Amino acid sequence: MRDLQDIDTVGVVGAGTMGSGIAQVAATVGYDVVMRDIEQPLIDEGFDRIDDSLSRFVEKEQLSRSEADAAVDRVTGTTDLDDLADCDYVIEAAIENMDIKQDIFADLDDVVDDDVVLATNTSTLSITTIASATDRPELVAGLHFMNPAPIMEGLELVVGERTSQETVALSHEFAEDLGKRTWEADDKPGFVVNRVLMPWINEGIRAYDEGVASKADMDAGLKLGTNVPMGPLELADHIGLDVCLDASQTLAEELGDRYKPPYLLKRKVDAGDLGRKTGRGFYEYD
Ligand code: NAD
Repeated sequence: MRDLQDIDTVGVVGAGTMGSGIAQVAATVGYDVVMRDIEQPLIDEGFDRIDDSLSRFVEKEQLSRSEADAAVDRVTGTTDLDDLADCDYVIEAAIENMDIKQDIFADLDDVVDDDVVLATNTSTLSITTIASATDRPELVAGLHFMNPAPIMEGLELVVGERTSQETVALSHEFAEDLGKRTWEADDKPGFVVNRVLMPWINEGIRAYDEGVASKADMDAGLKLGTNVPMGPLELADHIGLDVCLDASQTLAEELGDRYKPPYLLKRKVDAGDLGRKTGRGFYEYD
């Protein structure tokens, strides 16, 4: 298995909210990155998000313009999974769907060298089930970045049934090299964060739908009353309502009805109002 010093090129599967953020994080600390999505426009949008985010770091004088430009130059976009062949560590951040993730992992298993770790950014799906699509389950782990990946310092490291201690150790080291602080979770639905966060968000949506408070008061109440930076409706928009719905459905299947997604969440996703990324969720965005 490779050591941290052997990691030069990082593969990222998915150029969406999380994939583009993860690519940015890796490129900013000096890794070459190959970022793969299924269509070129999605890759272009991923690069736009990286540019916007890096520009904010430059405005805040946390990066120089030349460091930001160098980071972008280290990222290569592709629609061809074969272009990940030379990657030394791969992070999958495609949509939260087990069949799609298993297909991706089976393909990665064929394309990427046998001693390379294949990590998934899944929010709720089983690492063990994803790993079963490969012939290297000991090299599969959860590397669960928080959103937005370039800003949030925390990173949840999820250990599957067959994940080896070497993979866990390398993933901790790699995450720290990316500037993150890790905690470990066993491969149980929702791990630490989403097991607790999703019912909190869903209860906020239900309470709003039942008229307990206006949207603004719902969010203000939780922010001012419990000292969290975002209320449940704002946070749902920030995460993506489709991502929240997928996560809640997985948790409900595994852990029972207390995780069932609220009706209003389903209705908004059906309407295509997915939160910040579509310009409209519980709130409207420019
Ligand atoms: P997103 O919808 O913004 O992006 C997903 C991307 O994956 C899309 O661009 C899609 O085209 C792409 N994709 C689909 N199939 C693909 C394939 N076969 N190969 C390559 N790309 C493919 O979703 P996101 O919010 O970035 O979430 C990605 C993953 O990260 C999910 O597993 C999600 O649960 C997890 N996650 C999300 C958040 C969050 O707050 N949004 C936080 C932590 C983890």
